[in-house]
Amino acid sequence: TNRNELLDAAGIDRILTRIAHEIFERNKGGDKLVLVGISNGGDYMAVLLQHKLQDITSCKVPIGTVDIAMHRDDIASRRKVVVGKTEMNFSVNDCQVILIDDVLFTGRTVRAAIDAIFELGRPRNIQVAVLIDRGHRELPIRPDYVGRSLPTSRAEDIEVKYGDDRVPQTVALVRM
Ligand code: 5GP
Ligand code: MG
Repeated sequence: TNRNELLDAAGIDRILTRIAHEIFERNKGGDKLVLVGISNGGDYMAVLLQHKLQDITSCKVPIGTVDIAMHRDDIASRRKVVVGKTEMNFSVNDCQVILIDDVLFTGRTVRAAIDAIFELGRPRNIQVAVLIDRGHRELPIRPDYVGRSLPTSRAEDIEVKYGDDRVPQTVALVRM
């Protein structure tokens, strides 16, 4: 395998600071901002963005999580995306929802997360924030906030390593 490190902890932190400012810019005046992290990975990023938004606004934005599981579907190259537990101790009705994940690929996970949110209520809007957009979309889904756009081949993988404190430490491009 061939591993190419693209971001270190400081680089990832700068990106999350920038995204927090972009979220604030586009939603200011909006008192009904909520963050929803997609586990596993997006939920860690949601907590970091919550802290950064708190530094900017001195408000603590509510956080929810939606657990999305992947299963192999009949066609070998396609995955079935299944919604697991959704944890939200607030109403999403009329909220501006920021859906957060670490890596955006085909868009199937985000689509399933949008479905899960609509099961719970009617948000005012849903915006998508991702650390890495690796391309290969199979659905009409695009991120509103992007850390890095990294065109990849299907044989490549984006490796996001988390520390014990769940803070992302490195992002690397891995070729098998
Ligand atoms: P999608 O559903 O858009 O095809 O895939 C996105 C989901 O799968 C995300 O939750 C993400 O965590 C995971 N994923 C897809 N591709 C990669 C990748 O290259 N690296 C990592 N770390 N996760 C990925
Ligand atoms: Mg994930």
